[in-house]
Amino acid sequence: MAQKNIVIVGAGFAGVYATKRLAKHFKRDKDVTITLIDRHSYFTYMTELHEVAADRVPEDAIQYDLQRLFCRRKNVKLVTDTVTTIDRANKLVKTKHGAYPYDYVMLGIGSEPNDFGTPGVKEHGFTLGSWEHAVQLKEHIKDVVRRGAIEHDPAKRKALLSIVVVGSGFTGTETIGELRDWRDTLAKESKLDPEEISFALMEMAPTIMNMLDRSDADKAERYLLKRGVKVMKNTGVVGVHDDHVDLKDGSTYPTATLIWTAGVKATDQAKNFGLTQAHAGRIVVDETMASKDDKNIYVVGDVSFFDGHSDRGEPQIVQGAEASAHTALVNIENAMAGKPADVAYKASYSGFMVSLGSKYGVANIMGWLHLSGFFAMLMKHLVNMLYFLQNYSGYYFFQYMMHEFFRTRNDRNIMRGHISRQGNVLWTLPARLYLGAMWLVDVSHKISGDASWFLPKLRLPFDWLMPAATSGASAAGADATSAASGAAETTTTAAKAVFSLSYEYGKEPMMVFDKMPSWMYSITKAMIPNQDVAFFMQRTMTVVELLIGLALVAGLFTFVCGGVSAMFTMIFCLSGMFYWTNMWMIPVAIAVMNGSGRAFGLDKWVVPYLQKTFGKWWYGTPKALYDSDVVK
Ligand SMILES: Cc1cc2nc3c(=O)[nH]c(=O)nc-3n(C[C@H](O)[C@H](O)[C@H](O)COP(=O)(O)OP(=O)(O)OC[C@H]3O[C@@H](n4cnc5c(N)ncnc54)[C@H](O)[C@@H]3O)c2cc1C
Repeated sequence: MAQKNIVIVGAGFAGVYATKRLAKHFKRDKDVTITLIDRHSYFTYMTELHEVAADRVPEDAIQYDLQRLFCRRKNVKLVTDTVTTIDRANKLVKTKHGAYPYDYVMLGIGSEPNDFGTPGVKEHGFTLGSWEHAVQLKEHIKDVVRRGAIEHDPAKRKALLSIVVVGSGFTGTETIGELRDWRDTLAKESKLDPEEISFALMEMAPTIMNMLDRSDADKAERYLLKRGVKVMKNTGVVGVHDDHVDLKDGSTYPTATLIWTAGVKATDQAKNFGLTQAHAGRIVVDETMASKDDKNIYVVGDVSFFDGHSDRGEPQIVQGAEASAHTALVNIENAMAGKPADVAYKASYSGFMVSLGSKYGVANIMGWLHLSGFFAMLMKHLVNMLYFLQNYSGYYFFQYMMHEFFRTRNDRNIMRGHISRQGNVLWTLPARLYLGAMWLVDVSHKISGDASWFLPKLRLPFDWLMPAATSGASAAGADATSAASGAAETTTTAAKAVFSLSYEYGKEPMMVFDKMPSWMYSITKAMIPNQDVAFFMQRTMTVVELLIGLALVAGLFTFVCGGVSAMFTMIFCLSGMFYWTNMWMIPVAIAVMNGSGRAFGLDKWVVPYLQKTFGKWWYGTPKALYDSDVVK
């Protein structure tokens, strides 16, 4: 086939989804090039913008570098530039700095906040339609709270400490819920009474959250009210000033922070493409997601307008963006294979999840499962994590876990802070050294003298390895260091056996398991079926124990060594070879997995070096602008 170019404009939910799948589909086809153009070098996880705005997660937590997302896709060219127009006569996508030839274009440039021309929103209000908006809002709120805390004029102080969100859709309710979550930290930083910071949600309609079932919306409303948020229904905002807003009923409301989330429209540039636009500037497409004006231009996500199911178009949500991208990409694949490009868009929305801060949310799954509180939040996190798996990004899956669960601040996670703490690894240094020393002491018995595990004496006390006369003897009571070479020795020494540094209390130490659980028995028997394997295993185990001990003392690969230590200890317990007095090893081994090798250990240098080297090899060197073939 002759060289074909697919140009995808916009690396949002729709664009990234389509690029991943097209790249996979054409991975063996050297003649197909996929060019992904975005004005940013990263994908913005738009649905979590409010988390940045309310300082729950670090600013870069919702920026996913495109090079990292597409590093293993050699057929994808990444371009960081702003698309200005499409030259349909010459089949070129034009950007500020170049032009890119295309056979098919997929336009997914998203949407932006719509203030419906309300006076003052642009000058004095805030919106939440991009990463930049989120950062700007966060800085503004920090600033007004600091200023409010030292303001003596009561009216000015009230306006500075009053936060108003207009619009009760996804963006509005998630934003007010998240900001309310931030309140106590904000107040503490400025030595304020938290009650002084007030929140109001204004909605023009007589009810809020009208995209949800009434029962879910009512639950959410009750939660907001309980948290002291003023829910103002039938309230239209008709003007915005720097210290108050004008309401439709002629009254005013004091605030220096008006966040406008009452509507979205197509990104302004949509008008530059010469394609038919409809309601809110969205570009009109047919059921195949191709523009009504040009069958080689597909339009997907928030910017597209398909009126097949509703005269208001499809909802501007992630599921809609991905479903439209899917329709378009299948049609592009068909067209390139010479088949009819007539696959029609199928709307399938599996539910809604709305968070009101880090600990509470409401969800409606598949129209019949209604969740609230912890379970709704859990569902939201699971869906978010699924996104990374769908897009084959283990790296960002890991980062998401860190930002949302394990490295959160001020108890702002689904577990109310219980699984997140940033401590000093120095405090686990003694535990690491002690654990390492324990392995070394244990190994010292196994590599020297008559008890050496390298001598041709069987040390593993399993009954199926014993000579026939005593093969029925239980393995119970035998331990890793003193298991004798024959069955008789095994049974007589078992009761007195000690493991490593364990000691006797005057009574015999108590075994964790007197004998192996039956499932463990079967697995062990399958893995160590005869004496040859047993000899090999006992020597290998000794070498591994030695390496773990040395590595722990030196602080090298402590995460892995801690994990392996915990795993070995559990296996010893289950094998009927371990005492309760040694059980400390499991929690200590888990504790040293906290990166304890970074305190007076080699991990301080080795881990960053490996991260850097491996990252460079796998993801390439990060850069702000990506190269591509460009027609000047
Ligand atoms: C705060 C907030 C909360 C939300 N919460 C939810 C939610 O809970 N659930 C839900 O389903 N939906 C939610 N949404 C809606 C959801 O984010 C959108 O439906 C989705 O992002 C649309 O995807 P898209 O690919 O069409 O556009 P986007 O994801 O917006 O991506 C558009 C991309 O195009 C790029 N771009 C724009 N113009 C140009 C240009 N001229 N040249 C180059 N690149 C350009 C942009 O940089 C951007 O990367 C929320 C939206 C916001 C703002």
